[in-house]
Order: sequence, then structure tokens, then C-alpha cells
Amino acid sequence: MWEIHLKMTGRLIWDRADYEKAKHTRVVVVMEGGKLYFWDTRKFGYIRVVSERKQLGKDPWEMSEAELMRKLQKTGRSVKEAILDQSLLAGVGNIYANDGLWEARINPKQKANTLTIPQVKKLLSSLRRVMERGLATGGASDNSYVNAKGEMGSYQNEFLVYGRTGEPCNRCGTKLERIVVGGRGTWVCQKCQL
Ligand SMILES: [Zn+2]
Repeated sequence: MWEIHLKMTGRLIWDRADYEKAKHTRVVVVMEGGKLYFWDTRKFGYIRVVSERKQLGKDPWEMSEAELMRKLQKTGRSVKEAILDQSLLAGVGNIYANDGLWEARINPKQKANTLTIPQVKKLLSSLRRVMERGLATGGASDNSYVNAKGEMGSYQNEFLVYGRTGEPCNRCGTKLERIVVGGRGTWVCQKCQL
């Protein structure tokens, strides 16, 4: 089984001649129906062979509120670090964690084990909503993400808080702040997300 991580600038491109000799094409996988290109400018991404599927949590659509509540209660980390932990909840990256927490009016630094049931309920529905919007717009291409056809997404035009330092909160107009939580850039409205 292969494990592929695109990291910051990786792309997986299906069968496009212009990627055959592109400068940053790192791996070409010749398959029956065509070629798969792994392209990466900064080389943080990787393809590796793993013997077993790594322990991944359920994604926000598979996860029930009760189950997420149980998992969050077991960790003293911040809620943002917890939802970025792929073994706890799969598929949530930094962009969607930031936007989902804002939509749910939860402070990213709140300890995961202090969330109330209504907060967990709101968090799960907010994560689903922002990720559905991400999927519908083809993802965020503020770095260099493109889909397998090489097309850019447009979610970067719809960020709720991610990357919007100093810009007004969409709900209350307060200037958004950038803080660091668990080593990751984090954007927050100090008025809406108490
Ligand atoms: Zn606000």
C-alpha cells in the first residue's frame, strides 16, 4: 500500500503530457490507463510504501457527536490540536480547523476536554459545512494545490478566518488576530470565539 502526502506544494496529476518533462516532476508512475505524476516544487511531500494502513480516525462525516465528545474528553490538548490529530479525527487540515472553529464560535485554545456537548455538536456540523464548501469549490489553491486534472480550487477566496490577519470578522467586524496554537498559525476573532 502506498501512502502519499502532498504537504505544502505537492500535486498529483493524472496523465498530462506537459508534466512529463516538467522541472518539478519527481515521480512518474506508469499505469495501465495512463501516467500519474507526482510534482512538488519544495520536496516536502512524499510517496512511501507502507505495510499497513496507518491508524486514521474517522472523518467528520463518519464520526458521531457522541464519539467525538468521548475522544475530546480524553485529551488535555487544545481543541485545535486535537482536531488536527489525524488519528483522532481524519481529514481536517489547518485551513478547515481554523474556519470550522470560527464558525462554531469556539476558541482554538480551549482545552478539548472542557468542550460542552452543544459545543461539540456545533463543531462537528461546522467542520462538515466548511469542508463541504471546500470540496464544492475544488479546495484552496493559495499555495499551489491543484486537482488531478491540474485545475486550481477557489476556496482561498472564501476563507472565513484562515490567513486573514487584521481583516474584519465576518460576523462582528472585530479585527482577526493571528496566534500560534500547537506550533501552527491560527486565526481567531477574540470577540466571537471566547
Ligand atoms: Zn467576530
